[in-house]
Amino acid sequence: MGDERTRLLKKSRETKERTVGNKVYFRGLVEFSNVCSKDCLYCGIRKSNEKVVRYNATDDEILDSCRFAWENRFASVVLQSGEISSPAFVKRIDNLLKKIKQLSNNELGITLSCGEQTRETYLRWKESGAHRYLLRIESSNRELYYKIHPKNQTHSFKKRVEALRFLKDTGYQVGTGVMVGLPFQTFENLADDLLFFKQIDIDMCGMGPYIEHEDTPLYKHRNLLKTKQERFDLTLNMIAVLRLLMPDINIAAATALQAIDPVGREKALAVGANIIMPNITPCNYREAYQLYEDKPCLDEDKELCRSCLEARIDLAGSEIGYNEWGDSKHFAKRVNG
Ligand code: SF4
Repeated sequence: MGDERTRLLKKSRETKERTVGNKVYFRGLVEFSNVCSKDCLYCGIRKSNEKVVRYNATDDEILDSCRFAWENRFASVVLQSGEISSPAFVKRIDNLLKKIKQLSNNELGITLSCGEQTRETYLRWKESGAHRYLLRIESSNRELYYKIHPKNQTHSFKKRVEALRFLKDTGYQVGTGVMVGLPFQTFENLADDLLFFKQIDIDMCGMGPYIEHEDTPLYKHRNLLKTKQERFDLTLNMIAVLRLLMPDINIAAATALQAIDPVGREKALAVGANIIMPNITPCNYREAYQLYEDKPCLDEDKELCRSCLEARIDLAGSEIGYNEWGDSKHFAKRVNG
């Protein structure tokens, strides 16, 4: 197994360099609100967790973070929040998108990660400036999906898959992903997740190790978990196999990797990932956006975060694609035939 794994990781690194190159692209991550209408059983900011202090950053704070990203040549931002679909929320995102485009002379690329929405909402946001969307399926196995989500209409597996289709239909670069090392998850489930990505033909992927949060219902199954190191290693294996399976997609080095290993994200870059999402959320809110425990960089300001990442990426032997969107090559091929 040791030799096989070494060969796998080497092969995936070579594949990455040959297909998407050795550059790492930044997506400045703004976690602008932890208010959520859902109750996913693994998530620290789920609606029913009364211990969470809820926040909603102001438009000015969000725009300041985006301005920081633009001035520091990050080229792209990700706006992420809990899932809300009220007309007021939809309108707010719409306005923010237009303002981000304005403040950056149309230069900042914008990814959204705001959960399931209607086809009309996706289309509206696309027309206002978003061009990538992240919506993690978390598990492509229906049975496992309902072990980690309440079984009701608000958390419908069918609707989630449908939302991914809407995103593709409306012209986004579509990203999804799963948690690796969930309780009840089998190796076969993980293999099926990879085939699911291939089948729906995704453009981007983010996979992180599952890290338990004590204020969630799933925590009671922690006795079923692999060790954190095993979950970490398994995540790297998943990234490596995915790079071989879908050589030209963008793969993010998830922050959750760093919660287990201080150089976890760099290790992911070394085996096939090519995207990093530096956290540029205003520091005063970061503590309250903890989907899992031991989340790193909670008190590191944007400037520090940038220099820290620069050094780390340098160490990992990669180059940062400053001022470049670094869009998914797979997407370009998909839409241009
Ligand atoms: S995982 Fe996302 S949708 Fe689910 S409770 Fe957490 S923030 Fe809300």
